[in-house]
Amino acid sequence: MSGGGGGGGGGGGGGGGCSIVWFRRDLRVEDNPALAAGVRAGAVVAVFIWAPEEEGHYYPGRVSRWWLKHSLALFDSSLRNLGTSLITKRSTDTVSTLLEIVKSTGATQLFFNHFYDPLSLVRDQRAKEVLTARGIAVRSFNADLLYEPWEVHDDQGHPFTIFESFWERCLSMPYDPEAPLLPPKRITSGDASRCPSDTLIFEDELEKGSNALLARAWSPGWSNADKALTTFINGPLIEYSKNRRKADSATTSFLSPHLHFGEVSVRKVFHLVRIKQVLWANEGNKAGEESVNLFLKSIGLREYSRYMSFNHPYSHERPLLGHLKFFPWVVDEGYFKAWRQGRTGYPLVDAGMRELWATGWLHDRIRVVVSSFFVKVLQLPWQWGMKYFWDTLLDADLESDALGWQYISGTLPDSREFDRIDNPQFEGYKFDPNGE
Ligand SMILES: Cc1cc2nc3c(=O)[nH]c(=O)nc-3n(C[C@H](O)[C@H](O)[C@H](O)COP(=O)(O)OP(=O)(O)OC[C@H]3O[C@@H](n4cnc5c(N)ncnc54)[C@H](O)[C@@H]3O)c2cc1C
Repeated sequence: MSGGGGGGGGGGGGGGGCSIVWFRRDLRVEDNPALAAGVRAGAVVAVFIWAPEEEGHYYPGRVSRWWLKHSLALFDSSLRNLGTSLITKRSTDTVSTLLEIVKSTGATQLFFNHFYDPLSLVRDQRAKEVLTARGIAVRSFNADLLYEPWEVHDDQGHPFTIFESFWERCLSMPYDPEAPLLPPKRITSGDASRCPSDTLIFEDELEKGSNALLARAWSPGWSNADKALTTFINGPLIEYSKNRRKADSATTSFLSPHLHFGEVSVRKVFHLVRIKQVLWANEGNKAGEESVNLFLKSIGLREYSRYMSFNHPYSHERPLLGHLKFFPWVVDEGYFKAWRQGRTGYPLVDAGMRELWATGWLHDRIRVVVSSFFVKVLQLPWQWGMKYFWDTLLDADLESDALGWQYISGTLPDSREFDRIDNPQFEGYKFDPNGE
């Protein structure tokens, strides 16, 4: 991956032919720099490539695929309203598929937005090298973060290894995160007549029944993400500092699956909540101001998860504190099964694990309770728990998942004390006093 603000890479090609805009987890038309660049350059071929086998061990779970299916359908209809449509391709080798699309459309440019998980870092670099070598101009952009990982470092130019210092630096950067871009007014469609879409299958027959229930609670898609953001900002945000830890009520934003699939821009979230903060500061509403600080800190943790993954690409597999690589975790399939099925005998842990299986969702506090029980009481390897979350969460996100599990396991320089063991019963009294 190349560094540098508004897009690195490049070389060769350009002009003449149309541009391919390659969408992945950036399924929105607003504040999408790759799309904006494509529109500025002329005719656009919008492409989504489904190559889950490339993710290896991290093949997306059932509920995550359900979300993606609906998000893509809504995204396609937004593109159609603007004048083009999404070409979908099934592939086992994304870069080869990109090359085929280049050939069949006569494209001379490729635009995409950055990702920071280890698989994307390798794939995107390969895409850049292979396409640039064929004379295609490749440009990539930041659409997922307030600041690129290489922009934030200490005075010696080294990456931070502690969240608090990282976040303090982000908040005191000399320049604000860029203001969000407006959606394009219209998109001129490139000629994709020789590049037909494949039908993508995201769920099998057995999964459809369970998935049908998800639609009762969740509405994927960028316009729904926008609604969720507005509802949160005009509602629970003001009391976030007081209520965010209440596991028995809807006091947080529920934005994580929307953010994971890039349906809402984190820069937009940042700027809108900052406007509220200024308003509340003028009114002398200290609690409101503090709520925004804490909410932005949550957004900061998401930023940090990408920062950690970029600087330590093995962090989803190995502890950051190297000496803990040899910790003698208990390798017990029986304990693991009891935890997954919600049969440990600890009410809050079991309720959480059954909720996760049934709904694909867990409040942050309950994630902490069940993961802490997993590593501290059962002493199972955190990578197992992380993978199970990956398979079952609606907002499954490799970087946030790895950060969460490493933090709870005590394997980060600034994580919970290694020898801290929470009592799951007391946690229940604190965060779910009525046993909801
Ligand atoms: C063991 C463990 C595993 C986790 N796995 C995931 C995961 O796979 N995907 C995921 O999105 N989050 C994960 N989290 C973080 C957090 O629990 C969820 O982001 C949060 O519960 C989502 O609810 P919300 O959108 O209402 O959050 P809000 O409280 O409204 O926060 C706003 C946003 O900030 C970000 N955020 C908040 N807390 C964290 C955090 N601790 N780490 C990273 N980002 C954060 C999320 O994008 C969230 O949507 C995990 C936490 C733990 C302890």
